[in-house]
Formats: sequence, structure tokens, C-alpha cells
Amino acid sequence: MNSSVTVLPPLPDVARLLPRQQMAMDCAVCARPLGASGRVLAEVRHLGLPFRLWVCVRGCPASRPAFLAI
Ligand SMILES: [Zn+2]
Repeated sequence: MNSSVTVLPPLPDVARLLPRQQMAMDCAVCARPLGASGRVLAEVRHLGLPFRLWVCVRGCPASRPAFLAI
């Protein structure tokens, strides 16, 4: 057992995100407005541009990420 290994959830596909999610206005996972809170999930590149994916600071309220339901 290696307790330092963190299992990460699958990253959303930037190409499938809504513009508001790409612009870090809404959560990249559940699409809820982030407001003043949020945390960086990952930094990815899409079409040669860097995107910083933001998610709910306390975890998404939805039991299943919206992008997995597509
Ligand atoms: Zn969320």
C-alpha cells in the first residue's frame, strides 16, 4: 500500500465544456456557478491554449459528474 498515491477522477474534456466552464465561471464538473469560491482541478491545454479547470471547492453536490452522463 502506498498511501501517497492519490486516485484522481477523470478530467473533463475541455472541448465538451460550456464556454462558461472553460472561462472558469462555472464548475468544470457540475456546471454550477462558482461565485467567489472554487479550486483548481487541473491545468490542461486545448487547441494550443492553456485552460485552468475550476471545480466546487467543497466537492460537487451531484453524485455523478455531469460530463460523465453525456
Ligand atoms: Zn461542481
